[in-house]
Amino acid sequence: VLTVEPRLGEGLLGILRNADVRFADTIIEVGRGLDGGKDTIIVDGHGKIVLPGFVDTHNHLWQSLIRGCGPDLAVDSWIVKCVIEKFYFDEDQAYWGTRLSTVDLIGTGVTTVLDWSHSFSNGFTEGNLRALRDSNLRFIYGFMLAGYRSDEEADLRKKKSFYIDRNPLAGLHVCTPLRPVGTDDLEKFVGIAKELGVPLNVHILEGVADSDPDPIEVLRNAHAFDGLTFFNHAVRASDQQIQFLADHRVPISHNPLSNLRLASGVIPLGKFAEQKLRVGLGLDGGSNDTSDVFANMRVAVGLQRARAGDAAVFPSVEQVIRMATLGGAEALGMEQRIGSLSPGKRADMILLDPARANFAPMQDDGVAQIVFNGQPGNVEAVFVDGRPLKWKGRVVLDDTTEEEIVAKAQKQAERPPPSPSAQDRETRQKLLKAFNLTM
Ligand SMILES: [Zn+2]
Repeated sequence: VLTVEPRLGEGLLGILRNADVRFADTIIEVGRGLDGGKDTIIVDGHGKIVLPGFVDTHNHLWQSLIRGCGPDLAVDSWIVKCVIEKFYFDEDQAYWGTRLSTVDLIGTGVTTVLDWSHSFSNGFTEGNLRALRDSNLRFIYGFMLAGYRSDEEADLRKKKSFYIDRNPLAGLHVCTPLRPVGTDDLEKFVGIAKELGVPLNVHILEGVADSDPDPIEVLRNAHAFDGLTFFNHAVRASDQQIQFLADHRVPISHNPLSNLRLASGVIPLGKFAEQKLRVGLGLDGGSNDTSDVFANMRVAVGLQRARAGDAAVFPSVEQVIRMATLGGAEALGMEQRIGSLSPGKRADMILLDPARANFAPMQDDGVAQIVFNGQPGNVEAVFVDGRPLKWKGRVVLDDTTEEEIVAKAQKQAERPPPSPSAQDRETRQKLLKAFNLTM
């Protein structure tokens, strides 16, 4: 059992050998030789590895519909071709695209996801949130506001009270793309996030054009740092900017597979660790095309080693497993509830089967192999709040089947989005202008 709580076991990952985990919707007890009592259901974990579920701190779940898009494009051109031009995806497309992603996420052992949604229209947010609810995953919905519109603000508040406030698995961030947003609108979004007590969540210092104007300066002028903020990427952060982020306690989502795919660069991760910034890992939707957390961890380690020419740099295999679990929970401010198998926390955990051709023979508790050999196929069971979402290697679905989800998503990806409203067309023009293009 990798508890990821040093007080409970050995080393950074708090390892306990031949141990039991007793849980209902929360973790009740972790230790050796536990007796659950007569009504206990026993899950046989002999020879297997138990660890907290993975926390995916940055994703765009609708983007399963654009997998493989723009294979030779860097981030800015990719955003135009693969995101902004898809601007009119509707409710059904949002629903089935998101359902497909959630099945893929559960398959790889993710139990909490932050879905940074482009929230293209009221119908889109409806489909997106319905799919998240139906997935039974723990989630934070990132509601994007791109240019201030009172109807969008009203939609945000309505969806919050219906889909977020009444669902104990749900949370909210206010998201915005910085470049197309003017100062007045940005101040409004900062105000909305503050009023709701949630972070303002932005992509920052990702592409080449992301540094001019300095996005941190833009956010500072809008008083964003008086409230909560959450940044994705920060690949191009200078030493001075990293210092600023540390001074203002800004959490970061690191998305190594996406950074490779979009030629964004290699984050100076060791410097973030030295400054004790909270960093979690993210999969980043269609820009990396896969929901494989194991590959993401492997690349997070490998990129730093390749850049430094040194295998001893941050993160080690233990550090990257921590980053994918408790580190992500800390970045999202959820470490009191999830991220480790500490008694009292929610029972979000996964069971890995190392007795497979890609992983066996298990050595030294399998810690290095989780990072270097692990694949979604090794994830035998996934629990959220103690409820099995994957069982005996299959994703558990109450309302549909994996085959139906795949078929529906395929159909929705092939269907042209319906005609946009005048307002939607206007927002799209604004976004394209921000990326120096016209339609
Ligand atoms: Zn992203």
